[in-house]
Amino acid sequence: MNLHDPAEEIVALRAEIEQFRLLANNVPVAIAYFERQGFTCRYANLGYASMFGRDEQNILGLTFAQIIGEAAAQQIQPQVDAILRERRAASYERQLPDGEGGTRHIEVNLLPHMGAAGEPVGAFVLIADITRHRRAELALRESEERLAKFMHASAEGIAFHKDGVITDVNPPLLALVGYTLAEMRGRPALEFVAPDQRERVGGVMSAGAELTYETAVAHKNGERIPVEFIVRTLHHQGERLRMTIVRDLRDSIEARRRIHHLAHHDALTGLPNRNAFIEQAETLVAQAAARGTSLALLFIDLDHFKRVNDSLGHLAGDTLLKTVARRITGTLRAGDLVARFGGDEFVVLLAGDTPAAGVQEVAHKLLAAVGAPLEMEGASISVTPSIGVALFPRDGGNSEELIKHADTAMYHAKSKGRAGCCFFEPEMAASALAELEMESRLTQAIAAKEFVLHFQPQLSLADGSLVGCEALIRWRHPERGLVSPNAFIPVAESRRLMLPIGHWVLHEALLEARRWRDAGLPAVPVAVNLSTMQFGAVGFVEGIERALAETGTDGSMLELELTERMLMDDLEQVRGALLRLKALGVRIAVDDFGTGYTSLGHLKNLPVDRLKIDRSFVKDLPADASSAAIARAIIQMAQSLGLRTLAEGVETEAQHAWMRDQGCDEVQGHWLAPPMAGSKLRAWLAGGLEPQAR
Ligand code: C2E
Ligand code: MG
Ligand code: MG
Repeated sequence: MNLHDPAEEIVALRAEIEQFRLLANNVPVAIAYFERQGFTCRYANLGYASMFGRDEQNILGLTFAQIIGEAAAQQIQPQVDAILRERRAASYERQLPDGEGGTRHIEVNLLPHMGAAGEPVGAFVLIADITRHRRAELALRESEERLAKFMHASAEGIAFHKDGVITDVNPPLLALVGYTLAEMRGRPALEFVAPDQRERVGGVMSAGAELTYETAVAHKNGERIPVEFIVRTLHHQGERLRMTIVRDLRDSIEARRRIHHLAHHDALTGLPNRNAFIEQAETLVAQAAARGTSLALLFIDLDHFKRVNDSLGHLAGDTLLKTVARRITGTLRAGDLVARFGGDEFVVLLAGDTPAAGVQEVAHKLLAAVGAPLEMEGASISVTPSIGVALFPRDGGNSEELIKHADTAMYHAKSKGRAGCCFFEPEMAASALAELEMESRLTQAIAAKEFVLHFQPQLSLADGSLVGCEALIRWRHPERGLVSPNAFIPVAESRRLMLPIGHWVLHEALLEARRWRDAGLPAVPVAVNLSTMQFGAVGFVEGIERALAETGTDGSMLELELTERMLMDDLEQVRGALLRLKALGVRIAVDDFGTGYTSLGHLKNLPVDRLKIDRSFVKDLPADASSAAIARAIIQMAQSLGLRTLAEGVETEAQHAWMRDQGCDEVQGHWLAPPMAGSKLRAWLAGGLEPQAR
């Protein structure tokens, strides 16, 4: 550049000014210069001018009061005077509206401009926008306030600590540990942790981990309080703070303890339950195996417990079970295990190395103790147990196997006349296995169409007319031939297979009744036997209603045979169910009457149509006096209640005549007609086959 050429010099200067302007307009600071005389603006960058709604040109020459407003100028004047007087820079903060309804924070720096004479001739103004700064500060303050509020509002204890020293604690935590804030603040956090937990908590603290764990704190009075710690790290004003939420676990630990107890104990007797028993038994089995000693497992089942429940009520049943539990425990030694497996089943594990004779002795003591008479509701009752024994290692290598075999042995004790004790023998397992096999075959029998119904006519004693037919199931077993219901119904009952089988019977029987009607045969009801399981099932009445609808049969074509046991449960419930059946037109018979314990008063309240006198009272007639007395009493009782009677299993003419003479209404039995297949029955009904008695 040639500095001696004025034209070029001007060009260069212009360029320099332009550069300066560019710079001044692009720095994030508003810049202006005011001369002292009159405080008029001599320079303003774009930022300054636009801050006050001007541009770089039209702002020049205006006084600073004109630019920022009279009120603001008056406020600022003392600062301006001070910098000019004291000849040093000053700064202050101001807020301006940001034009969008908000506030703009500015920091104003005033710098005196000294003239050649050392006198201030003007002032530079530099304004920085610090809105963002201020907002961040505000946010921080707010979050701090929020944290404080949260900490105080929280029902859970919260402590802040820094480098292991407590900085703040909220009131709930103070209440939990019994200290004041002054006593805790500034103290090492570990001082308030239960002594046995300090090492662990200290470890978590020094690792700086964020986690949740169970530990314990120490109350001022020394009490150890189980708590849950939820530990978090916070960054606060450049510091690393640790926040610990402290949750009192005393209530939930108590709740968990109770749940654990419930899961492992029988609520009624307080004895361990099956799961707990197996757990403990496994340990004893392992110990015995290691030492080469023996163990004895006794399976105890009460005989006819259901009768107590049925006749005296569940409350009495519960009392009895509690008494039995006490008696069993009282008979045993401290190390022996006792558990209730549910219902009336108790299991005992004799822990000592007891020889077989010793086990027999314990079993007899148990039989005597459990079976001892007991006063209940003014009556003296006695419930005997049946006991099955399995020995370790002879009868099983683990608790499950021992339980299974003792259970099998117990069934043998029952079948040998109850109130006794049986030791397991391998042959017993064979019959249990046979049952299992039967169960698996039974599950397939419906699909395989192996069941058939036979029908046995029921006749009026007055005129020999047909009054009904009883449907009796048979199982056409591929290998065993026609199997009687007595051989498989108990298995089906115990394995819950009775519902699908019962459903099948009901449908088949109703279909057969329809065939009679369609063939123009006498419209008599078909009698269907019910099992306890069916009658007790949810939606039983609806199921009957559905079966009638599905087979297109009228309710009056169906009679249901219930046993006395089914009627004894909950009178109101049974009554309700029977009334609903009656409303459908269905008739109700009580099967095997005389073998149960139904009271007269009970029957009076139930809508029953007829009583079927059990075959056991018929078979020895007319010679046997006691059978005759019972049969006569049943007939008279039924007459007084307005119920009809039917004698089951009539096999002789003498029995038939005896029943007619006593005023029995109906008969069923081989002497009249055996159960027969549907097609055969229809032929019989059509008159092709004559019953002997007609
Ligand atoms: P139950 O209901 O008492 O049926 C009468 C039983 O006596 C039938 O035995 C029948 O064949 C038999 N019987 C009839 N007349 C005579 C006779 O003159 N002399 C002798 N000795 N017996 C006679 P079954 O068919 O073996 O049935 C046995 C039991 O099985 C039935 O006793 C009943 O409780 C049950 N049962 C049969 N079918 C069903 C069914 O479909 N469902 C349910 N839940 N149980 C059924
Ligand atoms: Mg029957
Ligand atoms: Mg019967």
